[in-house]
Amino acid sequence: MEHLIAMPDATTLRSDARSGQVAEVDALIIGAGFSGLYQLLCLRDRLGLSAQVLEAGDGVGGTWYWNRYPGARCDSESHSYSYYFSDELLEEWEWSERYPEQPEIMRYLNHVADRFDLKRDIRFGTRVTSAHYDTAANRWLVGTEAGEQLTTKFLITAVGCLSTANIPDIPGLDTFAGDWYHTGQWPHDGVDFTGKRVGQIGTGSTGIQAAPVIAKTAAHLTVFQRTANYSVPARNVPLTPEFKRYLKQSYAEIRRLMHTTTNGHPFGISERLALDTTPEQRQALYEAAWETGGLQFRSTFQDLLFDKAANDTAADFLRGKIREIVKDPATAAILADIDHPFAAKRPPIDTNYFETFNRDNVSLVDVRATPIERITPKGIVTSDAEYELDIIVFATGFDAMTGPLLNIDIRGRDGLSMKDAWQAGPKSYLGLQVAGFPNLFTVTGPGSPSVLCNMPVAIEQHVEWITDCISYMNEHEVERIETTAEAADKWAEEVNTAANATLLPQVKHSWYLGANIPGKPRVFMPYAGGMLRYRDICSDVAARNYEGFVLSR
Ligand code: NAP
Repeated sequence: MEHLIAMPDATTLRSDARSGQVAEVDALIIGAGFSGLYQLLCLRDRLGLSAQVLEAGDGVGGTWYWNRYPGARCDSESHSYSYYFSDELLEEWEWSERYPEQPEIMRYLNHVADRFDLKRDIRFGTRVTSAHYDTAANRWLVGTEAGEQLTTKFLITAVGCLSTANIPDIPGLDTFAGDWYHTGQWPHDGVDFTGKRVGQIGTGSTGIQAAPVIAKTAAHLTVFQRTANYSVPARNVPLTPEFKRYLKQSYAEIRRLMHTTTNGHPFGISERLALDTTPEQRQALYEAAWETGGLQFRSTFQDLLFDKAANDTAADFLRGKIREIVKDPATAAILADIDHPFAAKRPPIDTNYFETFNRDNVSLVDVRATPIERITPKGIVTSDAEYELDIIVFATGFDAMTGPLLNIDIRGRDGLSMKDAWQAGPKSYLGLQVAGFPNLFTVTGPGSPSVLCNMPVAIEQHVEWITDCISYMNEHEVERIETTAEAADKWAEEVNTAANATLLPQVKHSWYLGANIPGKPRVFMPYAGGMLRYRDICSDVAARNYEGFVLSR
Protein backbone atom coordinates (compact mmCIF):
# COMPACT_ATOMS: atom_id res chain seq x y z
CA MET A 1 0.00 0.00 0.00
CA GLU A 2 1.36 3.31 -0.99
CA HIS A 3 0.40 5.26 2.07
CA LEU A 4 1.99 2.72 4.35
CA ILE A 5 4.86 4.40 6.08
CA ALA A 6 7.70 2.77 8.01
CA MET A 7 6.40 1.34 11.22
CA PRO A 8 7.71 3.25 14.20
CA ASP A 9 7.36 1.71 17.64
CA ALA A 10 6.13 3.62 20.66
CA THR A 11 9.67 4.73 21.55
CA THR A 12 10.22 6.26 18.13
CA LEU A 13 6.94 8.09 18.36
CA ARG A 14 7.80 9.52 21.73
CA SER A 15 11.12 10.87 20.48
CA ASP A 16 9.39 12.27 17.39
CA ALA A 17 7.04 14.13 19.67
CA ARG A 18 9.92 15.44 21.78
CA SER A 19 11.69 16.74 18.70
CA GLY A 20 8.55 18.67 17.82
CA GLN A 21 7.71 16.64 14.72
CA VAL A 22 4.26 15.25 14.26
CA ALA A 23 4.39 11.46 14.27
CA GLU A 24 2.28 9.68 11.66
CA VAL A 25 0.73 6.23 11.70
CA ASP A 26 -1.92 4.41 9.70
CA ALA A 27 -4.15 3.85 12.69
CA LEU A 28 -4.42 5.29 16.17
CA ILE A 29 -6.45 3.48 18.77
CA ILE A 30 -7.56 5.21 21.94
CA GLY A 31 -7.60 2.90 24.96
CA ALA A 32 -5.81 -0.33 25.93
CA GLY A 33 -8.66 -2.38 27.34
CA PHE A 34 -10.20 -5.48 25.78
CA SER A 35 -11.08 -3.51 22.61
CA GLY A 36 -7.87 -1.59 22.09
CA LEU A 37 -5.61 -4.60 22.59
CA TYR A 38 -7.42 -6.73 20.05
CA GLN A 39 -7.77 -3.84 17.60
CA LEU A 40 -4.01 -3.27 17.75
CA LEU A 41 -3.31 -6.94 17.14
CA CYS A 42 -5.68 -7.04 14.15
CA LEU A 43 -4.44 -3.90 12.44
CA ARG A 44 -0.75 -4.39 13.12
CA ASP A 45 -0.33 -8.14 12.82
CA ARG A 46 -3.12 -9.13 10.44
CA LEU A 47 -3.20 -6.11 8.11
CA GLY A 48 0.42 -4.99 8.51
CA LEU A 49 -0.49 -1.39 9.29
CA SER A 50 1.49 0.91 11.53
CA ALA A 51 -0.80 1.16 14.52
CA GLN A 52 -0.44 2.65 17.97
CA VAL A 53 -2.55 2.65 21.09
CA LEU A 54 -2.75 5.77 23.24
CA GLU A 55 -3.73 4.90 26.81
CA ALA A 56 -4.27 7.27 29.73
CA GLY A 57 -3.42 4.66 32.37
CA ASP A 58 0.01 3.29 33.13
CA GLY A 59 -0.99 -0.23 32.18
CA VAL A 60 -3.40 -2.24 30.04
CA GLY A 61 -6.85 -3.17 31.31
CA GLY A 62 -9.17 -0.28 30.45
CA THR A 63 -12.12 -0.24 32.81
CA TRP A 64 -10.47 -2.97 34.92
CA TYR A 65 -7.35 -0.85 35.31
CA TRP A 66 -9.39 1.87 37.05
CA ASN A 67 -12.11 -0.12 38.84
CA ARG A 68 -10.04 -1.63 41.66
CA TYR A 69 -12.70 -1.13 44.34
CA PRO A 70 -13.22 -3.81 47.00
CA GLY A 71 -15.12 -6.77 45.60
CA ALA A 72 -14.62 -5.81 41.92
CA ARG A 73 -15.42 -8.88 39.92
CA CYS A 74 -16.97 -9.52 36.52
CA ASP A 75 -20.59 -10.69 36.21
CA SER A 76 -19.89 -12.66 33.05
CA GLU A 77 -18.57 -16.12 33.79
CA SER A 78 -14.82 -16.27 33.39
CA HIS A 79 -14.76 -18.77 30.53
CA SER A 80 -16.97 -16.43 28.53
CA TYR A 81 -15.17 -13.26 29.62
CA SER A 82 -12.26 -14.13 27.37
CA TYR A 83 -11.03 -13.54 23.87
CA TYR A 84 -12.01 -16.35 21.54
CA PHE A 85 -9.93 -15.34 18.51
CA SER A 86 -6.96 -17.56 19.35
CA ASP A 87 -7.19 -21.28 20.10
CA GLU A 88 -3.66 -21.21 21.53
CA LEU A 89 -4.64 -18.47 23.97
CA LEU A 90 -7.72 -20.46 24.99
CA GLU A 91 -5.55 -23.53 25.46
CA GLU A 92 -2.96 -21.90 27.67
CA TRP A 93 -5.05 -19.61 29.89
CA GLU A 94 -6.85 -21.02 32.90
CA TRP A 95 -9.31 -19.04 35.04
CA SER A 96 -9.48 -19.94 38.70
CA GLU A 97 -13.08 -19.04 39.64
CA ARG A 98 -16.55 -18.99 38.14
CA TYR A 99 -16.37 -15.16 37.88
CA PRO A 100 -13.01 -13.48 37.41
CA GLU A 101 -11.91 -11.02 40.07
CA GLN A 102 -10.39 -7.69 38.98
CA PRO A 103 -6.74 -8.71 39.69
CA GLU A 104 -7.16 -11.92 37.70
CA ILE A 105 -8.62 -10.00 34.72
CA MET A 106 -5.60 -7.69 34.91
CA ARG A 107 -3.29 -10.72 34.87
CA TYR A 108 -5.18 -12.09 31.87
CA LEU A 109 -5.01 -8.87 29.86
CA ASN A 110 -1.32 -8.43 30.68
CA HIS A 111 -0.76 -12.01 29.56
CA VAL A 112 -2.53 -11.28 26.26
CA ALA A 113 -0.56 -8.06 25.75
CA ASP A 114 2.75 -9.83 26.44
CA ARG A 115 1.95 -12.96 24.49
CA PHE A 116 1.15 -10.95 21.35
CA ASP A 117 3.90 -8.42 22.01
CA LEU A 118 1.43 -5.55 22.07
CA LYS A 119 2.97 -3.27 24.69
CA ARG A 120 5.70 -1.97 22.39
CA ASP A 121 2.97 -0.21 20.43
CA ILE A 122 1.07 1.18 23.38
CA ARG A 123 1.92 4.57 24.79
CA PHE A 124 0.89 4.52 28.42
CA GLY A 125 0.26 7.63 30.49
CA THR A 126 -1.00 9.35 27.34
CA ARG A 127 -4.43 10.91 27.62
CA VAL A 128 -5.98 11.98 24.33
CA THR A 129 -7.64 15.39 24.60
CA SER A 130 -8.46 16.24 20.99
CA ALA A 131 -8.91 14.67 17.58
CA HIS A 132 -9.51 16.95 14.59
CA TYR A 133 -10.12 15.76 11.06
CA ASP A 134 -8.25 17.52 8.27
CA THR A 135 -10.38 17.11 5.15
CA ALA A 136 -7.69 18.11 2.64
CA ALA A 137 -5.12 15.71 4.05
CA ASN A 138 -7.69 13.05 4.98
CA ARG A 139 -5.90 12.69 8.30
CA TRP A 140 -6.88 12.94 11.93
CA LEU A 141 -4.70 15.19 14.05
CA VAL A 142 -4.71 13.80 17.56
CA GLY A 143 -3.56 15.84 20.56
CA THR A 144 -2.61 14.60 24.02
CA GLU A 145 -2.76 16.17 27.47
CA ALA A 146 1.03 16.55 27.38
CA GLY A 147 0.72 18.65 24.23
CA GLU A 148 1.98 16.06 21.77
CA GLN A 149 0.43 15.69 18.34
CA LEU A 150 0.10 12.67 16.10
CA THR A 151 -1.59 12.15 12.77
CA THR A 152 -3.36 9.12 11.51
CA LYS A 153 -5.55 8.01 8.66
CA PHE A 154 -7.80 5.84 10.81
CA LEU A 155 -8.88 6.75 14.30
CA ILE A 156 -10.48 4.05 16.41
CA THR A 157 -11.96 4.83 19.78
CA ALA A 158 -11.71 1.88 22.16
CA VAL A 159 -12.56 4.00 25.17
CA GLY A 160 -15.06 1.66 26.82
CA CYS A 161 -18.70 2.29 27.70
CA LEU A 162 -18.24 2.80 31.43
CA SER A 163 -15.06 4.76 31.96
CA THR A 164 -16.09 8.31 32.84
CA ALA A 165 -16.80 8.48 36.56
CA ASN A 166 -19.99 10.20 37.68
CA ILE A 167 -19.27 12.12 40.87
CA PRO A 168 -22.52 13.78 41.90
CA ASP A 169 -22.39 17.48 42.49
CA ILE A 170 -23.24 17.45 46.20
CA PRO A 171 -22.63 20.81 47.87
CA GLY A 172 -19.80 20.80 50.39
CA LEU A 173 -17.83 17.81 49.11
CA ASP A 174 -14.70 19.98 49.01
CA THR A 175 -15.10 20.71 52.72
CA PHE A 176 -15.17 17.05 53.80
CA ALA A 177 -12.37 16.47 56.32
CA GLY A 178 -12.13 12.73 55.66
CA ASP A 179 -11.15 10.89 52.48
CA TRP A 180 -13.44 10.16 49.56
CA TYR A 181 -13.12 7.92 46.54
CA HIS A 182 -15.07 7.04 43.40
CA THR A 183 -15.06 3.29 42.77
CA GLY A 184 -14.03 3.85 39.14
CA GLN A 185 -10.92 5.80 40.14
CA TRP A 186 -9.79 3.60 42.98
CA PRO A 187 -6.29 4.07 44.49
CA HIS A 188 -3.85 1.44 43.29
CA ASP A 189 -2.58 0.69 46.77
CA GLY A 190 -6.09 0.15 48.11
CA VAL A 191 -7.96 1.81 50.95
CA ASP A 192 -7.75 0.64 54.55
CA PHE A 193 -11.21 0.75 56.11
CA THR A 194 -10.12 -0.74 59.43
CA GLY A 195 -11.78 1.08 62.30
CA LYS A 196 -13.30 3.69 59.96
CA ARG A 197 -16.84 5.01 59.68
CA VAL A 198 -17.61 4.60 55.98
CA GLY A 199 -20.48 6.03 53.97
CA GLN A 200 -21.25 4.45 50.61
CA ILE A 201 -23.48 6.26 48.12
CA GLY A 202 -24.90 4.04 45.39
CA THR A 203 -26.45 0.59 45.13
CA GLY A 204 -25.86 -0.39 41.50
CA SER A 205 -23.74 -3.39 40.43
CA THR A 206 -20.65 -1.72 41.91
CA GLY A 207 -22.12 -0.72 45.28
CA ILE A 208 -23.70 -4.15 45.66
CA GLN A 209 -20.27 -5.76 45.17
CA ALA A 210 -18.39 -3.28 47.35
CA ALA A 211 -20.61 -3.07 50.46
CA PRO A 212 -20.13 -6.65 51.74
CA VAL A 213 -16.34 -6.35 51.44
CA ILE A 214 -16.12 -2.88 53.00
CA ALA A 215 -18.35 -4.03 55.89
CA LYS A 216 -15.87 -6.76 56.81
CA THR A 217 -13.24 -4.30 58.05
CA ALA A 218 -14.99 -0.96 58.58
CA ALA A 219 -16.03 0.07 62.08
CA HIS A 220 -19.36 1.01 60.55
CA LEU A 221 -20.77 1.13 57.03
CA THR A 222 -23.71 3.35 56.18
CA VAL A 223 -25.22 2.61 52.77
CA PHE A 224 -27.08 5.55 51.22
CA GLN A 225 -29.67 4.07 48.86
CA ARG A 226 -31.62 6.23 46.42
CA THR A 227 -33.15 3.51 44.24
CA ALA A 228 -33.63 0.03 45.65
CA ASN A 229 -32.26 -2.68 43.40
CA TYR A 230 -32.75 -6.36 42.65
CA SER A 231 -29.82 -8.67 43.05
CA VAL A 232 -29.30 -12.37 42.49
CA PRO A 233 -26.54 -14.33 44.24
CA ALA A 234 -23.52 -14.82 42.01
CA ARG A 235 -22.62 -18.14 43.67
CA ASN A 236 -18.99 -17.71 42.86
CA VAL A 237 -16.88 -20.86 43.34
CA PRO A 238 -13.42 -22.06 42.35
CA LEU A 239 -13.58 -23.90 39.02
CA THR A 240 -13.29 -27.65 39.47
CA PRO A 241 -10.70 -29.73 37.55
CA GLU A 242 -13.62 -31.41 35.73
CA PHE A 243 -15.04 -28.06 34.56
CA LYS A 244 -11.59 -26.90 33.46
CA ARG A 245 -11.19 -30.13 31.49
CA TYR A 246 -14.63 -29.65 29.93
CA LEU A 247 -13.66 -26.11 28.88
CA LYS A 248 -10.47 -27.26 27.17
CA GLN A 249 -12.47 -29.79 25.15
CA SER A 250 -15.35 -27.47 24.33
CA TYR A 251 -14.05 -24.09 23.20
CA ALA A 252 -15.37 -24.43 19.68
CA GLU A 253 -18.82 -25.30 21.00
CA ILE A 254 -18.78 -22.48 23.57
CA ARG A 255 -17.74 -19.99 20.89
CA ARG A 256 -20.55 -21.21 18.65
CA LEU A 257 -23.03 -20.86 21.49
CA MET A 258 -21.90 -17.34 22.43
CA HIS A 259 -22.21 -16.31 18.80
CA THR A 260 -25.77 -17.55 18.58
CA THR A 261 -27.32 -16.26 21.81
CA THR A 262 -29.06 -12.92 22.17
CA ASN A 263 -26.67 -11.58 24.79
CA GLY A 264 -23.41 -13.27 23.81
CA HIS A 265 -23.44 -15.43 26.93
CA PRO A 266 -22.85 -19.16 26.76
CA PHE A 267 -26.43 -19.86 27.81
CA GLY A 268 -29.67 -19.31 25.95
CA ILE A 269 -32.90 -17.73 27.12
CA SER A 270 -35.61 -20.28 27.77
CA GLU A 271 -38.47 -20.52 25.27
CA ARG A 272 -40.94 -20.84 28.18
CA LEU A 273 -43.31 -18.00 28.95
CA ALA A 274 -43.75 -17.04 32.60
CA LEU A 275 -47.45 -16.45 32.12
CA ASP A 276 -47.98 -19.88 30.55
CA THR A 277 -46.57 -21.54 33.65
CA THR A 278 -48.49 -22.35 36.82
CA PRO A 279 -47.52 -20.41 39.97
CA GLU A 280 -46.09 -23.63 41.48
CA GLN A 281 -43.96 -24.40 38.42
CA ARG A 282 -42.79 -20.79 38.28
CA GLN A 283 -41.79 -20.81 41.91
CA ALA A 284 -39.82 -24.03 41.41
CA LEU A 285 -38.06 -22.64 38.33
CA TYR A 286 -37.20 -19.35 40.05
CA GLU A 287 -35.89 -21.27 43.10
CA ALA A 288 -33.69 -23.38 40.85
CA ALA A 289 -32.42 -20.26 39.03
CA TRP A 290 -31.76 -18.57 42.39
CA GLU A 291 -29.68 -21.58 43.44
CA THR A 292 -27.75 -21.56 40.15
CA GLY A 293 -27.15 -17.85 40.59
CA GLY A 294 -25.76 -15.21 38.25
CA LEU A 295 -27.10 -13.42 35.19
CA GLN A 296 -28.75 -16.65 34.05
CA PHE A 297 -31.64 -15.83 36.36
CA ARG A 298 -33.12 -13.49 33.76
CA SER A 299 -33.09 -16.34 31.23
CA THR A 300 -35.66 -18.33 33.17
CA PHE A 301 -38.48 -17.15 30.91
CA GLN A 302 -38.65 -15.71 27.41
CA ASP A 303 -41.11 -12.93 28.28
CA LEU A 304 -39.43 -11.35 31.33
CA LEU A 305 -38.10 -8.36 29.43
CA PHE A 306 -41.11 -7.93 27.17
CA ASP A 307 -44.21 -8.34 29.30
CA LYS A 308 -44.71 -6.39 32.52
CA ALA A 309 -47.03 -9.01 33.99
CA ALA A 310 -44.42 -11.71 33.36
CA ASN A 311 -41.73 -9.51 34.79
CA ASP A 312 -43.83 -8.93 37.93
CA THR A 313 -43.59 -12.63 38.74
CA ALA A 314 -39.77 -12.45 38.83
CA ALA A 315 -39.83 -9.12 40.64
CA ASP A 316 -42.15 -10.50 43.34
CA PHE A 317 -39.98 -13.57 43.79
CA LEU A 318 -36.85 -11.45 44.21
CA ARG A 319 -38.52 -8.99 46.61
CA GLY A 320 -39.62 -12.01 48.64
CA LYS A 321 -36.00 -13.21 48.83
CA ILE A 322 -34.91 -9.83 50.19
CA ARG A 323 -37.56 -10.01 52.93
CA GLU A 324 -36.48 -13.58 53.70
CA ILE A 325 -32.78 -12.72 54.00
CA VAL A 326 -32.87 -9.35 55.79
CA LYS A 327 -33.87 -9.81 59.42
CA ASP A 328 -34.90 -6.25 60.29
CA PRO A 329 -38.30 -5.75 58.61
CA ALA A 330 -37.88 -1.97 58.30
CA THR A 331 -34.53 -2.37 56.51
CA ALA A 332 -35.95 -5.18 54.35
CA ALA A 333 -38.88 -2.97 53.36
CA ILE A 334 -36.56 -0.19 52.14
CA LEU A 335 -34.37 -2.67 50.23
CA ALA A 336 -37.38 -4.36 48.64
CA ASP A 337 -39.17 -1.14 47.69
CA ILE A 338 -38.03 -1.43 44.08
CA ASP A 339 -39.65 0.89 41.55
CA HIS A 340 -38.68 -0.67 38.21
CA PRO A 341 -39.09 -3.99 36.41
CA PHE A 342 -36.47 -6.68 37.05
CA ALA A 343 -33.51 -6.43 34.61
CA ALA A 344 -34.81 -3.20 33.09
CA LYS A 345 -31.79 -1.71 34.80
CA ARG A 346 -28.61 -3.75 34.44
CA PRO A 347 -29.25 -6.55 36.99
CA PRO A 348 -26.51 -6.83 39.63
CA ILE A 349 -25.31 -10.13 41.03
CA ASP A 350 -23.79 -10.33 44.47
CA THR A 351 -22.00 -12.19 47.18
CA ASN A 352 -23.84 -11.68 50.49
CA TYR A 353 -25.20 -8.22 49.66
CA PHE A 354 -28.55 -8.46 51.43
CA GLU A 355 -26.97 -10.58 54.21
CA THR A 356 -24.63 -7.64 54.88
CA PHE A 357 -27.57 -5.67 56.30
CA ASN A 358 -27.84 -8.26 59.11
CA ARG A 359 -24.44 -7.17 60.45
CA ASP A 360 -24.34 -4.95 63.54
CA ASN A 361 -21.92 -2.56 61.87
CA VAL A 362 -24.08 -1.86 58.78
CA SER A 363 -27.02 0.49 58.41
CA LEU A 364 -29.14 1.67 55.51
CA VAL A 365 -30.36 5.19 54.80
CA ASP A 366 -33.23 5.72 52.39
CA VAL A 367 -32.17 8.86 50.56
CA ARG A 368 -35.26 8.82 48.41
CA ALA A 369 -37.30 9.49 51.58
CA THR A 370 -34.65 11.70 53.18
CA PRO A 371 -32.47 13.12 50.39
CA ILE A 372 -28.81 13.97 50.77
CA GLU A 373 -28.62 17.75 51.16
CA ARG A 374 -24.92 18.42 51.58
CA ILE A 375 -21.58 17.20 52.74
CA THR A 376 -19.95 18.87 55.71
CA PRO A 377 -16.43 18.50 57.15
CA LYS A 378 -17.90 15.76 59.39
CA GLY A 379 -19.94 13.72 56.95
CA ILE A 380 -23.20 13.51 55.00
CA VAL A 381 -26.29 15.52 55.89
CA THR A 382 -29.68 14.27 54.75
CA SER A 383 -32.99 16.03 55.23
CA ASP A 384 -33.31 14.50 58.71
CA ALA A 385 -29.85 13.66 60.10
CA GLU A 386 -26.09 14.11 59.91
CA TYR A 387 -23.98 10.95 59.48
CA GLU A 388 -20.44 11.35 60.77
CA LEU A 389 -17.96 9.64 58.48
CA ASP A 390 -14.22 9.13 57.98
CA ILE A 391 -14.50 7.91 54.39
CA ILE A 392 -17.10 8.41 51.64
CA VAL A 393 -17.24 5.90 48.79
CA PHE A 394 -19.01 7.08 45.66
CA ALA A 395 -20.38 3.98 43.90
CA THR A 396 -22.34 6.39 41.75
CA GLY A 397 -21.63 5.00 38.31
CA PHE A 398 -20.60 6.57 35.06
CA ASP A 399 -21.45 9.04 32.36
CA ALA A 400 -21.97 5.95 30.27
CA MET A 401 -21.28 5.36 26.58
CA THR A 402 -21.08 8.97 25.36
CA GLY A 403 -19.06 10.38 28.30
CA PRO A 404 -15.70 8.90 27.28
CA LEU A 405 -16.13 10.14 23.69
CA LEU A 406 -17.41 13.62 24.50
CA ASN A 407 -14.57 14.15 26.98
CA ILE A 408 -12.32 14.31 23.93
CA ASP A 409 -12.65 17.36 21.68
CA ILE A 410 -13.55 15.40 18.53
CA ARG A 411 -14.12 17.47 15.40
CA GLY A 412 -14.98 15.98 12.04
CA ARG A 413 -15.55 17.47 8.60
CA ASP A 414 -15.90 21.29 8.51
CA GLY A 415 -15.03 21.52 12.18
CA LEU A 416 -18.26 19.77 13.26
CA SER A 417 -17.82 18.85 16.90
CA MET A 418 -19.09 15.54 18.24
CA LYS A 419 -20.70 17.49 21.10
CA ASP A 420 -22.78 19.47 18.60
CA ALA A 421 -23.53 16.43 16.46
CA TRP A 422 -24.83 14.65 19.56
CA GLN A 423 -26.52 17.58 21.24
CA ALA A 424 -29.89 15.81 21.15
CA GLY A 425 -28.30 12.46 22.02
CA PRO A 426 -25.92 10.09 20.28
CA LYS A 427 -26.67 9.07 16.72
CA SER A 428 -24.53 6.66 14.76
CA TYR A 429 -24.76 4.00 12.12
CA LEU A 430 -24.60 0.58 13.80
CA GLY A 431 -22.74 2.19 16.71
CA LEU A 432 -19.70 2.05 14.44
CA GLN A 433 -19.53 5.41 12.71
CA VAL A 434 -20.96 8.91 13.05
CA ALA A 435 -21.97 10.99 10.02
CA GLY A 436 -19.51 13.84 9.50
CA PHE A 437 -16.58 11.93 11.03
CA PRO A 438 -14.79 10.07 8.23
CA ASN A 439 -12.42 7.19 9.01
CA LEU A 440 -13.41 7.31 12.68
CA PHE A 441 -14.69 4.05 14.14
CA THR A 442 -16.21 3.71 17.60
CA VAL A 443 -15.75 0.25 19.12
CA THR A 444 -18.94 -0.65 21.06
CA GLY A 445 -20.22 2.87 20.47
CA PRO A 446 -23.77 4.01 21.32
CA GLY A 447 -26.21 2.26 19.00
CA SER A 448 -24.44 -1.10 19.22
CA PRO A 449 -25.39 -3.96 21.59
CA SER A 450 -22.29 -3.34 23.75
CA VAL A 451 -23.43 -3.27 27.39
CA LEU A 452 -26.46 -5.45 26.67
CA CYS A 453 -24.09 -8.17 25.55
CA ASN A 454 -21.26 -10.10 27.15
CA MET A 455 -18.66 -7.43 26.38
CA PRO A 456 -15.79 -9.50 24.89
CA VAL A 457 -18.21 -11.01 22.35
CA ALA A 458 -19.46 -7.56 21.33
CA ILE A 459 -15.89 -6.27 21.20
CA GLU A 460 -14.52 -9.10 19.05
CA GLN A 461 -17.34 -8.65 16.55
CA HIS A 462 -16.77 -4.88 16.29
CA VAL A 463 -12.99 -5.12 16.07
CA GLU A 464 -13.19 -7.79 13.38
CA TRP A 465 -15.78 -5.82 11.40
CA ILE A 466 -13.61 -2.69 11.53
CA THR A 467 -10.53 -4.70 10.55
CA ASP A 468 -12.33 -6.27 7.60
CA CYS A 469 -13.62 -2.86 6.56
CA ILE A 470 -10.14 -1.30 6.58
CA SER A 471 -8.77 -4.33 4.76
CA TYR A 472 -11.49 -3.92 2.11
CA MET A 473 -10.63 -0.23 1.79
CA ASN A 474 -6.98 -1.01 1.26
CA GLU A 475 -7.71 -3.71 -1.31
CA HIS A 476 -10.03 -1.41 -3.24
CA GLU A 477 -7.86 1.68 -2.85
CA VAL A 478 -10.55 3.44 -0.89
CA GLU A 479 -9.16 6.31 1.15
CA ARG A 480 -12.21 7.43 3.08
CA ILE A 481 -15.29 5.88 4.60
CA GLU A 482 -18.11 7.84 6.17
CA THR A 483 -21.62 6.85 7.05
CA THR A 484 -24.49 8.92 5.70
CA ALA A 485 -26.86 10.95 7.87
CA GLU A 486 -29.76 8.95 6.37
CA ALA A 487 -28.25 5.63 7.41
CA ALA A 488 -27.61 6.97 10.92
CA ASP A 489 -31.18 8.33 11.18
CA LYS A 490 -32.64 5.01 10.09
CA TRP A 491 -30.46 3.15 12.55
CA ALA A 492 -31.51 5.50 15.38
CA GLU A 493 -35.13 4.53 14.62
CA GLU A 494 -34.16 0.87 14.71
CA VAL A 495 -32.41 1.35 18.09
CA ASN A 496 -35.54 3.05 19.47
CA THR A 497 -37.88 0.43 18.09
CA ALA A 498 -35.77 -2.36 19.58
CA ALA A 499 -35.70 -0.66 23.00
CA ASN A 500 -39.42 0.13 22.96
CA ALA A 501 -40.24 -3.52 22.33
CA THR A 502 -38.78 -4.21 25.80
CA LEU A 503 -39.32 -2.93 29.32
CA LEU A 504 -35.83 -1.37 29.30
CA PRO A 505 -36.82 2.26 28.72
CA GLN A 506 -39.30 2.16 31.62
CA VAL A 507 -36.78 3.17 34.26
CA LYS A 508 -36.41 6.58 35.79
CA HIS A 509 -32.68 6.71 36.52
CA SER A 510 -31.25 4.21 34.05
CA TRP A 511 -27.79 4.92 32.66
CA TYR A 512 -28.86 3.07 29.49
CA LEU A 513 -30.94 6.23 28.87
CA GLY A 514 -28.38 8.71 30.12
CA ALA A 515 -30.93 9.55 32.81
CA ASN A 516 -28.40 9.22 35.65
CA ILE A 517 -26.55 12.35 34.52
CA PRO A 518 -28.27 15.70 35.05
CA GLY A 519 -28.85 17.48 31.73
CA LYS A 520 -27.89 14.51 29.55
CA PRO A 521 -30.34 13.95 26.66
CA ARG A 522 -32.66 11.05 27.37
CA VAL A 523 -31.93 8.63 24.55
CA PHE A 524 -31.78 4.87 24.85
CA MET A 525 -28.16 4.22 23.87
CA PRO A 526 -27.42 0.50 23.42
CA TYR A 527 -29.05 -1.60 20.68
CA ALA A 528 -31.52 -3.95 22.35
CA GLY A 529 -32.32 -6.09 19.32
CA GLY A 530 -29.84 -8.77 20.36
CA MET A 531 -26.29 -9.59 19.37
CA LEU A 532 -27.32 -12.35 17.01
CA ARG A 533 -29.52 -10.10 14.89
CA TYR A 534 -26.98 -7.27 15.09
CA ARG A 535 -24.13 -9.50 13.89
CA ASP A 536 -26.20 -10.50 10.86
CA ILE A 537 -27.05 -6.88 10.06
CA CYS A 538 -23.37 -5.86 10.20
CA SER A 539 -22.29 -8.80 8.04
CA ASP A 540 -25.01 -8.02 5.54
CA VAL A 541 -23.95 -4.36 5.33
CA ALA A 542 -20.35 -5.44 4.64
CA ALA A 543 -21.48 -8.01 2.06
CA ARG A 544 -23.36 -5.23 0.23
CA ASN A 545 -20.10 -3.32 -0.14
CA TYR A 546 -20.74 -1.26 2.97
CA GLU A 547 -24.23 -0.08 2.23
CA GLY A 548 -25.04 3.03 4.26
CA PHE A 549 -21.46 4.27 4.00
CA VAL A 550 -19.87 6.46 1.36
CA LEU A 551 -16.51 5.14 0.22
CA SER A 552 -14.25 7.50 -1.67
CA ARG A 553 -10.89 7.10 -3.36
P1 NAP B 1 -24.96 2.55 38.47
O1 NAP B 1 -25.58 1.29 38.08
O2 NAP B 1 -25.21 3.76 37.64
O3 NAP B 1 -25.36 2.83 39.97
C1 NAP B 1 -25.07 4.04 40.57
C2 NAP B 1 -25.73 4.10 41.91
O4 NAP B 1 -25.42 5.36 42.50
C3 NAP B 1 -27.23 4.00 41.84
O5 NAP B 1 -27.70 3.33 42.95
C4 NAP B 1 -27.65 5.46 41.86
O6 NAP B 1 -28.96 5.69 42.31
C5 NAP B 1 -26.65 6.01 42.85
N1 NAP B 1 -26.48 7.45 42.74
C6 NAP B 1 -25.97 8.15 41.71
N2 NAP B 1 -25.98 9.45 41.99
C7 NAP B 1 -26.53 9.58 43.22
C8 NAP B 1 -26.82 10.68 44.06
N3 NAP B 1 -26.57 11.94 43.68
N4 NAP B 1 -27.38 10.45 45.26
C9 NAP B 1 -27.66 9.19 45.66
N5 NAP B 1 -27.40 8.11 44.92
C10 NAP B 1 -26.84 8.30 43.70
O7 NAP B 1 -23.35 2.42 38.54
P2 NAP B 1 -22.47 1.13 38.88
O8 NAP B 1 -23.00 0.42 40.04
O9 NAP B 1 -21.05 1.60 38.92
O10 NAP B 1 -22.67 0.21 37.64
C11 NAP B 1 -22.60 0.71 36.33
C12 NAP B 1 -22.47 -0.43 35.37
O11 NAP B 1 -21.14 -0.91 35.38
C13 NAP B 1 -23.29 -1.64 35.72
O12 NAP B 1 -24.63 -1.49 35.42
C14 NAP B 1 -22.59 -2.70 34.93
O13 NAP B 1 -22.92 -2.66 33.58
C15 NAP B 1 -21.14 -2.29 35.09
N6 NAP B 1 -20.56 -3.00 36.23
C16 NAP B 1 -20.31 -4.32 36.05
C17 NAP B 1 -19.80 -5.03 37.08
C18 NAP B 1 -19.53 -6.46 36.88
O14 NAP B 1 -19.57 -7.01 35.82
N7 NAP B 1 -19.26 -7.10 37.94
C19 NAP B 1 -19.55 -4.45 38.30
C20 NAP B 1 -19.81 -3.13 38.46
C21 NAP B 1 -20.32 -2.40 37.41
P3 NAP B 1 -30.16 5.79 41.25
O15 NAP B 1 -30.38 4.39 40.77
O16 NAP B 1 -31.27 6.36 42.01
O17 NAP B 1 -29.67 6.69 40.13
